[in-house]
Parts: sequence; structure tokens; C-alpha cells
Amino acid sequence: MDKPAPPAHIEISRSAVKHNLEFLKKMIGEEVLFTSVVKGNAYGHGIEEYCSLALEAGVKNFCTYSADEAFRVWEATEGKAKIIVMGYKSIEALEWMIANGIEFFVFEEGFLKEAKKVAESVGKTAEIHLEIETGMNRTGIEVERLDPILEYINQHADQLHLAGICTHFAGAESISNYYRVQKQHKVFYGVVKHLKSIQKLPPKVHAACSAASLRLPKSRYNMVRIGIMQYGFFPSNESWVEYASKENNMEFPLKRVISWKSKVMSIKEVQTGEFIGYGTSYFANSPTKIAIVPVGYGLGFDRDLSNQGKVLIGGQRVNVIGIVNMNALTVDISGLDDVKVGDEVVLIGKQGESEISVASFSDISKLVNYELLTRLPSEIPRLIVD
Ligand SMILES: *Cc1c(COP(=O)(O)O)cnc(C)c1O
Repeated sequence: MDKPAPPAHIEISRSAVKHNLEFLKKMIGEEVLFTSVVKGNAYGHGIEEYCSLALEAGVKNFCTYSADEAFRVWEATEGKAKIIVMGYKSIEALEWMIANGIEFFVFEEGFLKEAKKVAESVGKTAEIHLEIETGMNRTGIEVERLDPILEYINQHADQLHLAGICTHFAGAESISNYYRVQKQHKVFYGVVKHLKSIQKLPPKVHAACSAASLRLPKSRYNMVRIGIMQYGFFPSNESWVEYASKENNMEFPLKRVISWKSKVMSIKEVQTGEFIGYGTSYFANSPTKIAIVPVGYGLGFDRDLSNQGKVLIGGQRVNVIGIVNMNALTVDISGLDDVKVGDEVVLIGKQGESEISVASFSDISKLVNYELLTRLPSEIPRLIVD
């Protein structure tokens, strides 16, 4: 027997991935290296599925948060991709990383020394990117420590190679951070100038995420790290509006890659005067026909969407009524005549003429796109569609 199908699945669109990557490559130009950020299970899209499509569309460089994610990218791309780990890696993971040419950010001097030791024992050179603290105050080497660190790398040139220098902006998607981001950029540019003057500028210089690539073209240097936009979203509504007015074109240039679907599990009629679901949060004022959908907060449908969310059934937008359960939600289908058990339910995506965008979804649950997407549990199967 085949494995039973789970109650929901996610579809990943090959043509949307291709479209978005073409748009982004055009935006950043030929001279700048495009790297695809696939942390957070490729923003919920599924590392394996997303990376194989990106590779197909010509992407060869990926950035992950951690070494375990890098391992998944490496397997999914059969070792064909170049990978940079931007955040967590244990000392134990270094051996695999260095042996396989996986590059990584360094923001702790102690870690640099560990990397040198491991590189020595593996007999290969570690490819490192020094992350510079420019004002985000998260991870990064203080500017004053740069020269002694370069000296150390120089002394151990067989073990350590400076592949890149980088930083990350503290919220380039919002104009309210403009001053802070400019200040960060100034600090980073100072470091770049300094390295150039002492002829130590590494091959890769990078600072820009999606928002900075879009709004601060000067911050692109020769490499960008793009996450959210490749999945078909602007980093914020503000950045989209700014882009549209600059281009004088309100046509949305990206395509949503993800769709999220389930099926009607049960249908019933509830009489006037009854409560529906747990507790007393929904009261039937009139005879109500309901459909039960086997997706709840356990599968990433936020509980804050109780009595608030919408899904698509029969091409129509219908209301979630009552409390979202762990494994199920209830919708009001009173207006729909021919809904049957087994009919498709769209949680995110299109059905007929109707569409539920991730944004409309997150508006009510107050989650940002990033959070809603990465919360989609990895056990929901991801299917690649055209
Ligand atoms: C997540 C991340 C990015 C990509 O950000 P987007 O806004 O999704 O483009 C780039 N750089 C670093 C260090 C990140 O953590």
C-alpha cells in the first residue's frame, strides 16, 4: 500500500521560481553575484524542493543560517552548489564544512582559531567571510579588531582564506530605519576602503538583503544575499509601494511560489441557537452549513485566525468560524450549494477567480510574511508543480 496522504500539502511553482529569479537577476545586473537565501527551510518552501528548482533556473550559490541546513542544500544539489553558512555551526560541523568547501561567516575570534585547527587536520583551507559589526549589534567583529584578525589569517594562509567581507543591515525594509542603515553602510564602506588601500580586499564583498538590494543599490557591492523576494514577496509593503512609484508601474513584478491546500473532511448543518466548536466563541444566529477542514494550528494555521481567517472553497472566499483547533478548522459554507466532502480547500493561493495571498492572511494574524511562511511545518509535503 502507498503511504496515506497527509491532510494538507504545499505546492511550489517552478514557473514562479524561474520568473522571480529572472526579475532579480535583471535587477542586480550581470556584475553582481546572486546568492539565494534558503534559511528557515527556504522560508517554509522546503529546502530540497526550492533548491532543486533554483539550481534548475541557474542559481549556483546559496546561503543558509546553519550547518545542518547547509548539509540539506548540499545533498539536494548533489554537491553542485556553493554554500555559505551565515549563522550557527558547531565546531564538530567544521570538519565536514571545510572538507567540502562550505564557506562560513566568522564573527568570533575563538571560532577562527578552531577553524584553523580543523583545517590543519583536514588538510584543506577554510573559506571564511568576516562579518563586520556595523551597528546592528547582533553578530560581527568590531572594526578595531579587523587588522589583528587579518594578521592572524595571513599567518595561517594554508588553513584560512579570506573569501569575503560582509555585514547585515538592521531593517532596510523600513524607511524609519533609514538613518541607522545609512550609518551602518558608511562604517562598512570605510572597512572596504581600508582593505582596498592595504590590498587585502577579499573576492566577495556583501551587505545587501532583498530590501537593501532594492533600495540601496550601492550596498550591492559584488554579491547580494536575497531571501524573501525570490519567493515572490517584497520585504515590506512600504518597499513595494516605493518600487511601484519609482517604476511608475503598479503591476506586481513577482509571483507567489507557494500554495497551501487541503480538502473538505466533513459537512453538516447546525441549527439556530447552537454554539459551534469549542466554547462559546461562535453562535449560530441562523441555520448554518459548515465544512470541517483537517488543518489547525498544529499544521501552521494560526490560532489567532479563529473567527477571522478565510479559505477558498468552490472558488468562493468563506469565513473560518469558531476556534481554530490543533488539527481542524471550521468554515461557514451556508451560501454554497454544491460543496462535497473531498473538495479542494485553498488556504493560500488561487481557486477560480479568487485568491488568498500570504499578506491577507498575515494582516489578521499580525504575522509578517517571513514568520507565517517559516512557521509552515516541514512535515507538510511539498509538491513541485508547473
Ligand atoms: C535572512 C538574511 C538575508 C535575506 O534577507 P531577505 O530580507 O529575506 O532578503 C540576508 N542576509 C542575512 C544575514 C540574513 O540573515
